[in-house]
Amino acid sequence: MMFWSITRIFARRIQCQNFSLKKKWLGTASSQFASKDKVPSGVYMPGAGEGDYNVKEILLKDFAENKERGTESIEEDDQICPKESDIVILGGGIVGSSIAYFLKNRVQNSMNVTVVERDPTYSRASTCLSVGGLRQQFSLPENIQLSQFSATFFRKIKEHLSILGEEPPDIQFQPCSYLFLATSETSAENIFKQQRLQKELGAKVEILTKRQLQEKFPYMNFSDILIGSIGLENEGYFDPWLLLAAMRAKAVSLGVKYVRGEVTGFRFKDHQMAKPDGSGMFMNQKKLDMVDVKLEDGNHHPIKFAACVNAAGCWSGEIASMAGIGKGKGIQSVPLPVEPRKRYVYAVHCPDGPSLNFPMLIDYTGTYIRREGLSGHYICGVSPTEEEEPDISALDVDYEYFQHKIWPALANRVPAFNCLKVKSAWAGYYDYNYFDQNVIIGNHPFYKNMIFATGSSGHGIQHAPAIGNAVTELIVDGEFKTIDLKRLSFERILEGNTLKEEEIV
Ligand SMILES: Cc1cc2nc3c(=O)[nH]c(=O)nc-3n(C[C@H](O)[C@H](O)[C@H](O)COP(=O)(O)OP(=O)(O)OC[C@H]3O[C@@H](n4cnc5c(N)ncnc54)[C@H](O)[C@@H]3O)c2cc1C
Repeated sequence: MMFWSITRIFARRIQCQNFSLKKKWLGTASSQFASKDKVPSGVYMPGAGEGDYNVKEILLKDFAENKERGTESIEEDDQICPKESDIVILGGGIVGSSIAYFLKNRVQNSMNVTVVERDPTYSRASTCLSVGGLRQQFSLPENIQLSQFSATFFRKIKEHLSILGEEPPDIQFQPCSYLFLATSETSAENIFKQQRLQKELGAKVEILTKRQLQEKFPYMNFSDILIGSIGLENEGYFDPWLLLAAMRAKAVSLGVKYVRGEVTGFRFKDHQMAKPDGSGMFMNQKKLDMVDVKLEDGNHHPIKFAACVNAAGCWSGEIASMAGIGKGKGIQSVPLPVEPRKRYVYAVHCPDGPSLNFPMLIDYTGTYIRREGLSGHYICGVSPTEEEEPDISALDVDYEYFQHKIWPALANRVPAFNCLKVKSAWAGYYDYNYFDQNVIIGNHPFYKNMIFATGSSGHGIQHAPAIGNAVTELIVDGEFKTIDLKRLSFERILEGNTLKEEEIV
């Protein structure tokens, strides 16, 4: 198999022998593709299968391009934004940063990895507005396994994310069980079914009868409840900002370049590929070649890449559409089904509320509440119904929604919550996959050099470490190795196969 990045390194070497370019360019080229760099054996570049690229054509084009660019001030440009990067990650939230970390940690100097992020303050990113919960209690095996991977990662976070000479990261992980409640026989059956699967996969989850629930949580009202399900390990919450800061800092320390800029479009090129009819004939196909980035100074700057990863969270649908996904014919007519959906989080105070053994309570109404520290502070929320979905143009909060939707459910379950007070609130966007509310991970079937890692819809931060590892495997090994995530690829959308997760919060 011929690899794109090998080809390009090779091209540079030949170019050095054959063209007498300006010293400036050679300096930059050798720092980007240092001759000591080796592509690890078996490195797979997505979309670069045999016959996908005409090697000679790429070499010749590279010669011509590089010769031209020898006259430009590349050193200066590169300080802000590289002209090319083997992998460009679009979006530097927790998913993009996790991919950057896992990938760079694995490939080291043999590939350049660049992250394009428009807002280094992350003021509207889902990551920083999330409530940072981790649970094992899902209905899809893939989601359970993603959580298990992340739980192990969090346990060993100091090993993964420490940087020499700096304080090891502390994401302030607080163990806290999730408690799911069932009121009907159908929901109780579902809970039993899920618990069997969770146990099969090694998760420690226990079913509690009504009496056991009453004994364990005497301050709660279980009059309308049949059973509950509680996680015994690998559940809790952490500080999302601290996780993002640690992941990003580690990625940077390994050599990942973060560019502050906004993705505004793509440039394409034709490449020849064998016709699928086996005739041995070739046809021209469009391929993603460069991403246009609008820098802080307003200038647009293209970055050439071998593959890009669309990790722009709730905006990843927008970025896909910039590449024409959802706008063409056939496969290209199908959009990436990810969009922002606004979710409110209310911080409440109830001095007489439950304390240490209060779980992350998921009421059958979907209302959730958990402790925030130990002195009567909690955070809570609920996902609205389709009819209640709020306007997404601004991140303002609807306090009425708490009054009429959330508070009654809380007070019904924990009578002490009749006396709570809302102290503050915020809103954030779920990276909502309106097809089936699960992550979409893997190459686009037409633009094979765009990889999706998006759409987790409310469980993305806990799965980010596992997603980072999975995308790395896809790039380096050409397949998922640790967790088989094939069912979560874009193909399921083309085929109309929804993978429903029963436990969406
Ligand atoms: C209220 C709330 C509670 C949540 N609770 C949980 C929870 O308990 N557990 C859990 O696992 N998950 C939770 N989530 C979901 C979780 O936060 C997300 O799934 C996760 O953070 C997604 O990460 P991301 O990196 O994909 O997206 P983001 O964090 O949104 O990052 C995407 C980045 O892309 C950048 N970007 C977008 N467009 C462009 C562009 N054109 N050019 C350049 N950059 C661009 C953005 O600036 C942004 O920084 C919650 C979310 C919300 C809103």
